[in-house]
Amino acid sequence: MEYSRTREGFNYNPRFLEFIELFAKIGADSRIFPKKCGTCGALFRSFPDYIHSTEPLAHGLQDYSDVLDVPRTMQYRNCRCGSTLTIVFTKEVYPILDRFWEMLGKESKETGQPLKEVVSEFRDQCNRYIIAHDSAQTE
Ligand SMILES: [Zn+2]
Repeated sequence: MEYSRTREGFNYNPRFLEFIELFAKIGADSRIFPKKCGTCGALFRSFPDYIHSTEPLAHGLQDYSDVLDVPRTMQYRNCRCGSTLTIVFTKEVYPILDRFWEMLGKESKETGQPLKEVVSEFRDQCNRYIIAHDSAQTE
C-alpha cells in the first residue's frame, strides 16, 4: 500500500501520515471548537478554519508532558489581530499523543534532524493536509 502520495500530489512523510490524519479528524471537536479570540472576537469554527485564519509561529507546537505531568500539546498560532492563540491537545482529544511524540523522537534520531525541525516539518505537512482536505471533511 502506498500511503505517502495523495491525490493533490504532495508527498507526505509516510511516518507522519497516520498522525496527520488523526489531527485532521479533530475537525470541529466540541471540546476545542468553536474557539474565540479574546482580543478581537474572531471565531474559529473548526481546526481547518483555525489553520486557515491564523498565522503560524516559529515555536508552533510544543510538548508540555514533562512540565505538567499530563501529556498535552499546545499549538500556538497568531490571530489576524496579532494576538497569540493556543490550542491544547489532550489525550481525550488526541488519544495517541504519547505515540505521536515517540514517533517524532524516533524520526529525529534516525534522520539526524533536530527534534525542533522534525516538529516544524510535521506541523507544515499537517497544516497542508488539513487545508487540502477541508472540503472533504465538511458534512
Ligand atoms: Zn484576534
